[in-house]
Amino acid sequence: MTTQVVVIGAGYAGAGAVKQFQKANDGSAELTWISEHDYHLVLHESHRVIRDTSVASKITIPVDEIKSPETTFRQSRVTGIDVDERTVQCEGGDPVDYDYLLVALGSQTAFYGIEGLEEYAHTLKSLDDAQQIHADVAAAASDATRSDPAQVVVGGAGLSGIQSAGEVAAYRDENNAPIDVTLVEGLDEVLPGMDPELQGALRTRLEEADVDIMCGEFVSRVDDDTIYVGGGEDEDPAELDYDVFLWTGGITGQDELADADIDKDDRSNRVYADRDFQTSDERVFAIGDTALIDQGPEEVAPPTAQAAWQAAEVAGDNLAHAVRGEPLETWTHKDKGTLISVGDDAVAHGVDILPIDTFGGIGAETLKKIVAARWIADVSSIGRAIDAWSDM
Ligand SMILES: Cc1cc2nc3c(=O)[nH]c(=O)nc-3n(C[C@H](O)[C@H](O)[C@H](O)COP(=O)(O)OP(=O)(O)OC[C@H]3O[C@@H](n4cnc5c(N)ncnc54)[C@H](O)[C@@H]3O)c2cc1C
Repeated sequence: MTTQVVVIGAGYAGAGAVKQFQKANDGSAELTWISEHDYHLVLHESHRVIRDTSVASKITIPVDEIKSPETTFRQSRVTGIDVDERTVQCEGGDPVDYDYLLVALGSQTAFYGIEGLEEYAHTLKSLDDAQQIHADVAAAASDATRSDPAQVVVGGAGLSGIQSAGEVAAYRDENNAPIDVTLVEGLDEVLPGMDPELQGALRTRLEEADVDIMCGEFVSRVDDDTIYVGGGEDEDPAELDYDVFLWTGGITGQDELADADIDKDDRSNRVYADRDFQTSDERVFAIGDTALIDQGPEEVAPPTAQAAWQAAEVAGDNLAHAVRGEPLETWTHKDKGTLISVGDDAVAHGVDILPIDTFGGIGAETLKKIVAARWIADVSSIGRAIDAWSDM
C-alpha cells in the first residue's frame, strides 16, 4: 500500500509543509491534509480585521489554492492522536491512518489560571476572534460619548498585543470614535526581552497613537467590568474599567495533544522536537507554535510566523525523506529581523539584509507589506499577493 503522510493544521507550519512536501514527493506517498477550516489564515495580519473587516478576504486563502489535486483535504477538528494505532482522531468522522504525521496545530492563548480572564477576555487566534473584537469595539464606541469614552484594554504587549492596540487606535481615528485604548504589560517594557531600541521605537509610536501604556504589573483578576492589575498582601490592585478586553498575554499548546503519547512539556502540551522535527515517536514530526524545537542548550525556536515558515520548508522535505528512508535534514532558526505595525506605521529591527538596526516610517511599512505579500505569493499566487498589498 502507498505510504500515507498526514499533515494536521493549515497555518504557516501546515500550509508551508504541504506546499513543500507536494514538491518533494516522488509519488511514493499519498498526502492527507486535515484542518478545521478550509482556508489558511495569514494570522500575523489578523489584527488588521479589528480595524476593517473587509481585510478578512485578503488574509484567508482557500486550501484549494495551496494543495495539489493529488492531495486529499479533510475539513475537520482534530481531537487527538493515537501513536500506537497511528491514527488521527477527527470530530464527527472516522480516524485517519498515517505512516508519517506532521503536527502543525499552532497554539492557544494561555490564561495562567488568572481568575476571570478566560471568561471575560477576547482572544485573537482566528478570523472569528478578530471579527468579534471588531464588532464589540464598534458597539462599545456607538454606546459611548466624548465625556464617557469606550474603554478598550489590550493585555500583553507582545507582537499580537502591540499590533492589536495599534489597530484599535487606528479604528478610533478613522471613525472619529470615542475610545480610550490601554495596553497592559506585566513585565517592565513593551515587547519584553527584545532590544531596548526597538522597545523605545514601539513605545514612541504607541504613545503617538494615543495608546496608554501600563507596564510592570500583571493582571491579577478580571470580572465583568473591571480588570485588576497588580496588588498583593499589603497593596490594593489598580482597577481598570473596560468595555472590551483583549488578552494576548501568552501562548500554550493545544488541549487536543494532552493525551498523545509523545514527549511534551507537561505544563503547556507543547511537543518536543529535534532539529529535524522528529518527536519522541519517529513517525511523528512537529513544527510551528505547537512544537518546542531544539536549537541548542536551553534554546528552542521562537513561536513566530517567521520561524514556522522557515521550518515548514525543511519539514516538507523531511517528510519526503522519511518516506524514502533517506537521512533527514536539520534546521536552525535564522532570525531575519522583526517587523511590527502600529496602525499604518511600522518599526523594523535587525533586518538581516540591511545595515540600519532600527527604523520606522515608509521603509518599515513597505518591508512589512513585502513579507506578508511574499508569504501569500509563496503559498498561493502573485495575483493574490498584489490584491492584498494595500491592506497589509
Ligand atoms: C495578531 C497576531 C500578530 C502576529 N504577528 C506576528 C508577526 O508580526 N511576526 C511573526 O513572525 N509572528 C506573528 N504572530 C505569531 C504567528 O502568527 C504565529 O507564530 C504563527 O501563526 C504560528 O504558525 P503555526 O502554523 O504554528 O500556527 P497557526 O498559524 O496558529 O496555525 C494553526 C493551524 O491549525 C489549525 N488548528 C488548530 N487546532 C486545530 C484542531 N484541533 N483541529 C484542526 N485544526 C486545528 C488552525 O485552524 C490553523 O490552521 C502573530 C500572531 C498574532 C495572533
